[in-house]
Amino acid sequence: MDLDKTINFNLGILGHVDSGKTTLAKLLSTQASTAAFDKHPESQQRGITIDLGFSSMVMDIPEQLKSSASDIGKIQITFVDCPGHASLIRTIIGGAQIIDMMLLVVDAQKGFQTQTSECLVIGELTCEKLFVVINKIDCFEESIRDKSIYKMKLRISKILEKTKFGNNVPICGISALKNLYIEDFLKKLQQHLFIPKRNFSKPFLFYVDHCFAIKGQGTVCTGTIIEGKVSVQQTVEIPNFKEQKKVKSIQMFKKPVQTALQGDRVGICVTQFNPEQMERGILAEPGSVRKLYAGIIKFNKIKYFKYTIKSKSKFHITIGHETVMAKVLLFKRNIETKESYNYFQIDKEYEYVEEAEIDNFPNDIFILLEFENPVLTVSDTLVIGSKLDLDLETNVCRIAFWGRLLWTSNSVNYVDSDLKNLKIYKYKTKQGSIQRIVNENEAIVHGLFKKESKRDIFIGKKIILSTGEEGLIESSFGKSSKVKVTFNNGLNSTTLEKLKSKNSDVLVLLNFKKYIFDKNKSIIQ
Ligand code: GDP
Ligand code: MG
Repeated sequence: MDLDKTINFNLGILGHVDSGKTTLAKLLSTQASTAAFDKHPESQQRGITIDLGFSSMVMDIPEQLKSSASDIGKIQITFVDCPGHASLIRTIIGGAQIIDMMLLVVDAQKGFQTQTSECLVIGELTCEKLFVVINKIDCFEESIRDKSIYKMKLRISKILEKTKFGNNVPICGISALKNLYIEDFLKKLQQHLFIPKRNFSKPFLFYVDHCFAIKGQGTVCTGTIIEGKVSVQQTVEIPNFKEQKKVKSIQMFKKPVQTALQGDRVGICVTQFNPEQMERGILAEPGSVRKLYAGIIKFNKIKYFKYTIKSKSKFHITIGHETVMAKVLLFKRNIETKESYNYFQIDKEYEYVEEAEIDNFPNDIFILLEFENPVLTVSDTLVIGSKLDLDLETNVCRIAFWGRLLWTSNSVNYVDSDLKNLKIYKYKTKQGSIQRIVNENEAIVHGLFKKESKRDIFIGKKIILSTGEEGLIESSFGKSSKVKVTFNNGLNSTTLEKLKSKNSDVLVLLNFKKYIFDKNKSIIQ
């Protein structure tokens, strides 16, 4: 049996800045890739990991997996060293989409910090398994070390209990710098490894994080295969500028390969193009990636986000490989229809929502996103909304909501071509009073309309009196704002009685709906 087969396992190292992520990745890895370990000059200057660093270690397939993966001899653990700097949270979100397990690094002295919690939020959205390391335990004096680690483990477990990871998360105390308890940690890690689920049937999608030209050979893009697979000689597209290129060679950790699969971290050499055109770009199966101008997601609020979310406000939207600004509009399922449907359906009516309250949050809300700049994406993409401009010092969670794309518009003229089809309505009410009774079936109503309003469009619409009788607007009356209203069933005698008095408090109410994207501004009842 060929036991040479190696599978790749992506371990995302996340945590607050300075918790020791890079130190740990460096210690663990046996092999460095181009982007690993703050090699980026700008990153060195700033002393932080600016792009997702990648490095790896290879271990024998753990005992517990041998029976389920008999053809696999080794497991390569790729460390995705995510930056922790506040302004770079967008990179974390982008990088987290390829993670099989999240390794959350907590500073032994500082405990859970703002970004630690944000990483946990991202982890809940993007991966199934969590492993926590308490780093820098060398800072605890030896005499109290074990006790301090124990206490900290309890505290962290308490926090994790409330997340989807529950109460079985492995937690280890280590010192990456002083190489303490690393063996124990690796043993435990090995016990928790699993064979990641991969799907090769989807079209090839590759997120590029570095791009450079090699004279006489072509242009190399390094990054991660998000979906599908890629082989030498295959044609791929650069959707940013709609060009197709041939794959000349593929390398995985400095070794040439013929084919690479979802989850693999590779360098792909394609026929020459100017690498400067390709910052944080995409390689994809031709035609599979489209420009997205607007989209709709189911609204899932992040419970740690402490602000009201308002329609027409702007959020940072991380979608696929990019983070862009978008205007949001909230709307909810029309409960009157009493139909049960869980997905957004373009032909159904929805009610506009002005703002989503912080705590009491209904779960049937959707969000329409209108992007300031179009984003390249495939269908069913995870979308994360955040307020990255919130002051970090205030120690608040900046990640606000998430969802998956349910509806998209790929047209530049999306407002005219697509939004007009959305039946999102607002309820409106006009209020007037009866000026004069003509007979028991007819009355003249004033105060419903302003002088300049077009009364004609309301002819035939229903009104209701505060005393309960229903009527119809028959015609406009007089030159200004009055209308004639008919009551097919007549008016009640008590109402007629009330109307006789000078200060009658009988109100005329005109309730209707308006679709907010309807150019004709039709009145719906
Ligand atoms: P990152 O921002 O999370 O990648 O953190 P770095 O790996 O760059 O480490 C930040 C600082 O913490 C550096 O000065 C490290 O030397 C230090 N550091 C990392 N691990 C340890 C540790 O286990 N013990 C101590 N005392 N310091 C550490
Ligand atoms: Mg770092």
